[in-house]
Amino acid sequence: GSGSSIGYGRTLANVDGKVPLGLERKSLRVLVTGGAGFVGSHLVDRLIGRGDSVIVVDNLFTGRKENVVHHFGNPRFELIRHDVVEPILLEVDQIYHLACPASPVHYKFNPVKTIKTNVVGTLNMLGLAKRVGARFLLTSTSEVYGDPLQHPQVETYWGNVNPIGVRSCYDEGKRTAETLTMDYHRGLGIEVRIARIFNTYGPRMCIDDGRVVSNFVAQALRKEPLTVYGDGKQTRSFQYVSDLVEGLMRLMEGDHVGPFNLGNPGEFTMLELAQVVQETIDPNAKIEFRPNTEDDPHKRKPDISKAKELLSWEPTVSLRKGLPLMVSDFKNRIFGDQRDGDR
Ligand code: NAD
Ligand code: UDP
Ligand code: UDP
Repeated sequence: GSGSSIGYGRTLANVDGKVPLGLERKSLRVLVTGGAGFVGSHLVDRLIGRGDSVIVVDNLFTGRKENVVHHFGNPRFELIRHDVVEPILLEVDQIYHLACPASPVHYKFNPVKTIKTNVVGTLNMLGLAKRVGARFLLTSTSEVYGDPLQHPQVETYWGNVNPIGVRSCYDEGKRTAETLTMDYHRGLGIEVRIARIFNTYGPRMCIDDGRVVSNFVAQALRKEPLTVYGDGKQTRSFQYVSDLVEGLMRLMEGDHVGPFNLGNPGEFTMLELAQVVQETIDPNAKIEFRPNTEDDPHKRKPDISKAKELLSWEPTVSLRKGLPLMVSDFKNRIFGDQRDGDR
C-alpha cells in the first residue's frame, strides 16, 4: 500500500541490526514550509521530538526565529530563510506545506504576494515532491467554504466564495493550491494529503496579528476593551493547536488523501468568545463594537465525521481548557517586552 512507500530514512537499528524496543520507527527527513510560524513551530517540536530530521523553509514574513530557536544547535534541525515562490532543491521524505500568512490582516497586506505564495509556492513544493518522491501535505483552510450556505461544513461542500473580494487572494489561492495538489496526485502519481484547517489558537500566535483570539487575549491583558466586529453574532469554531498538530501528523502518516476538515466543532459567537476571555482573564474587561470587515463569513463549524472515522482523530482540548495555556504565553511575551522596554 501507499503507506509503506514513504521514507528512505534510516532505521534506528543497532550495529547488529537489532532495533531497540520502541524505536522501530524510521527516522524521516521532513520539510516544513512555514515552520517558523505559529502552527509550523509546534509541528516541528513534535517531529523533532519523535526523532525526525527537520528542515524549515520560511521567509520569516509572519514567522519568527524565536519560535524555533530552542532547536538551534540540534544537528537534526535546520532553518533556511527562503521564499517558496522561488524554486529550491532539497532531499526529503515528507513535505508539510504551511508557508502562507494566515491572519486576514497579514494576507491582505500584500494580496498579490499572498496568491503567488499559494499558487507558485505550492507548485514549487509539488515539483520538489515529484523530483524526490516525497509525500506532500497541503494545509488548506475552512476559508475554501467561503461564506458557507451549508452548516456545519462537510468536505463534499464546494463552498460559496467571492472570486474578486478582498479575501479572495487567500480563499481562491488555497482553492487553487488544492486543485494543483489533486492534479499532481492524479496526473503524476504524487502522494498527497489535504487538510482543511479551521480557526486555530494557542501559544506563539503573533500578538498583534489581528485574529480574534489573539486580539481579545492581548486586549484583556493590556486592560484595553475587547473589539467585537459587527454585531458579534457571527460564529467560529476554535481549535487548540496541539489538536491540530496531532491531526496533521495522523493525516500525513495515514492512507487517505482527503480533504479532511481539522477543527473543533465547538461553535461560539464572537460575543460568547469575548465572555470566555472575560471569565479567563478579566471579568471587568469592556467590550467595544467596531464595524465588521468586508466579506466576513457569518458562520463556520466543521463536520469532522470523516477525520473521526478514517484518521481516528478528534480534538480533546476545549476552548475553556486551551485558552489559559495561551494566556500564560501571551503574559510572558507582553509583559516581558514591557520590562525590556523599560531598561
Ligand atoms: P503563520 O502566519 O503563523 O505561519 C505562516 C508561516 O509561513 C510564517 O512563518 C511565514 O513567515 C511563512 N511564510 C509566509 N509566506 C511565505 C513564503 N512566501 N515563503 C516562505 N515562508 C512563508 O500562520 P499559521 O497560523 O501558523 O498558519 C500555517 C498554515 O496553516 C497556513 O498555510 C495557513 O493558511 C493554514 N491555516 C491556519 C489556520 C489557523 O487558524 N491558524 C486556519 C486555516 C489554515
Ligand atoms: N521545483 C523546485 N524544486 C524541485 C523541483 C521543482 O522548486 O526540487 C519547482 C520547479 O522550478 C518548477 C515547479 O517546481 O517551477 C514545478 O516543477 P515540475 O517539475 O512539476 O514542473 P516543470 O518544471 O516541468 O514545469
Ligand atoms: N473579529 C472580531 N474582533 C477582532 C478580530 C476579529 O470580532 O478583534 C471577528 C471577525 O470579524 C470574524 C471573526 O472574529 O468574524 C474571526 O476573525 P479572524 O480574523 O480571527 O479569522 P477568520 O475566521 O475571519 O479568518
